[in-house]
Amino acid sequence: MTYLFNNPTKFADELIEGYVAAHRNQIQPVDGGVIRKHKAQPGQVVLVIGGGSGHYPAFGGFVGPGLAHGAAMGNVFAAPSAQQICNVAQAVNAGGGILFCYGNYVGDVLNFDQAQARLCAMGIDVRTVVVTDDIASAPLTEKHKRRGIAGTLPVFKAAAVAADAGKSLDEVFRIATEANEHVRTLGVAFSGCTLPGSNKPLFKVSSGKMEVGMGIHGEPGLYRIDSPTADGLAEMLVDKLLTEIPSTIVNGDGARIGVILNGLGSVKYEELFVVYRRVDRLLLERGLTIIDPIVDELITSFDMAGISLTLFWMNDELEKTWIAAADTPAFHKGNIVRSNIDTPAASRIKDKHPLEIGSMDSQSAAAIVFVALKAACKVINEKSEELGRLDAIAGDGDHGLGMQRGITAAVVAAKEALDAKAGAGTLLTVAGDAWSDRAGGTSGALWGVILRSLGNALGDEATPQASTVAVGIASALRDVTNLGNAQLGDKTLVDVLFPFSSALATAASQGLSIADSWAVATDIANEAAQSTKKLLPKIGRARPHAEQSLGTPDPGAISMALIITAIGKTISFL
Ligand code: ADP
Ligand code: MG
Repeated sequence: MTYLFNNPTKFADELIEGYVAAHRNQIQPVDGGVIRKHKAQPGQVVLVIGGGSGHYPAFGGFVGPGLAHGAAMGNVFAAPSAQQICNVAQAVNAGGGILFCYGNYVGDVLNFDQAQARLCAMGIDVRTVVVTDDIASAPLTEKHKRRGIAGTLPVFKAAAVAADAGKSLDEVFRIATEANEHVRTLGVAFSGCTLPGSNKPLFKVSSGKMEVGMGIHGEPGLYRIDSPTADGLAEMLVDKLLTEIPSTIVNGDGARIGVILNGLGSVKYEELFVVYRRVDRLLLERGLTIIDPIVDELITSFDMAGISLTLFWMNDELEKTWIAAADTPAFHKGNIVRSNIDTPAASRIKDKHPLEIGSMDSQSAAAIVFVALKAACKVINEKSEELGRLDAIAGDGDHGLGMQRGITAAVVAAKEALDAKAGAGTLLTVAGDAWSDRAGGTSGALWGVILRSLGNALGDEATPQASTVAVGIASALRDVTNLGNAQLGDKTLVDVLFPFSSALATAASQGLSIADSWAVATDIANEAAQSTKKLLPKIGRARPHAEQSLGTPDPGAISMALIITAIGKTISFL
């Protein structure tokens, strides 16, 4: 249970405000996250991390000397938007390049990749290392698909120490990549977490049972067993992790390892120590040398009762980074020499889209688009809870909230554009920017792209025709698949967008009006959304829990069909 909150939709903003107020001497806020109080050395590489809120101390708590230079902090369990990430990155950029490092979740990948592309276009060198330590989320042969959990810390440390030592971006990237190759984590849970404002947990684990391989966003575990004793749990975690000694470690049984026993929220330190006692013995019995173990809460999931064990297999170079000093609000180690140069107060840096006045024709079209967006907003508000419920079955339960945040911001931005006499193209572009900026997450990034692609096709001059709309939706589909790599049948919103786009194109080529072609394609979209029930998710947060989602439609597909249907009703006269 989360007991204390005001307006649940403002929870993340308010927690960040309070966090900053409590640590003013170490960090400072930027729009989108926090950065170190003290400047990086000119010309050095900087480390930018990030992720959703709700995992404290990950990720904002890890900003400071010896760890990250900045952290983008998204909404509760939602990836930060590309704009937030850009703001943080630009605020800490010292001219030597930027390393992005974060846990492997589709929403984070989409948004960090977009931010990387924007920064590269500005001439800033950015590389990315995605942490994939969770052995439960995919087999070793598909390590790149694994999620990132508590093993993010050793990778952040490796990158940060290399960056602060003045190494080149190539070197920092190499060391962080190597750290990721050498880290393995397995987690278990005894109860799900309850998000602020919700009165029930994202899912339940029956008493006396334990979920193995549970994700940190309440994604259910891979299987459920009777709860073991503390020693029994230590044995299970150690056994499973030791089946995966990295191939580069030659003396597997005599290796030097870093160990993290992480509490996920409501397991007490005392319980952690009881488990650690057995973990320690088992590892020593194996002949392993444990270096600077950590028994702490490093990456949490609100009040989820769970723990994870991380083993970090080290060579000499990685060991130096593991034992190096650090001093952040949530992580202290050794004595760090602080630079005293304050980072200048960072202001919001934003790609401003000049709001050009559209032609009279396009202004009329913009007014229709605005009404359509408002209708989309209404239906998402009505169905938000249902969308959250669908997403909780195999995902993290935030789809309704994320969509609400995004479409609400899109409508506000669209209204401003309308008042500024923008054309339909510009209105959709600013609405798309606002959507992805405010919503974050996977669907936020994708819907931002959809609105922008459609906006580009509509432009600010001509009255849109059925063929223009079809071309816009086709380019939205192309851009969504380029960004998210989902194929037809992967159980995502692409399973609706694809047939919707084909149906629109066919109808438009037959000479149907916008309203008629939209109506034909709406039926197809609704059928397609329902048909996702039969599919197994092959991509995204739901993938590791594929079987659980069989029989339930994909939340992103359903919300898209709802929006398409609602828009259809507002354009029936076109
Ligand atoms: P998150 O997964 O970050 O919590 P949401 O819950 O808002 O994001 O959105 C989940 C939806 O996003 C899924 O139901 C699916 O339709 C869509 N989705 C996930 N990954 C992809 C992808 N790679 N390409 C297209 N759509 C995707
Ligand atoms: Mg979700």
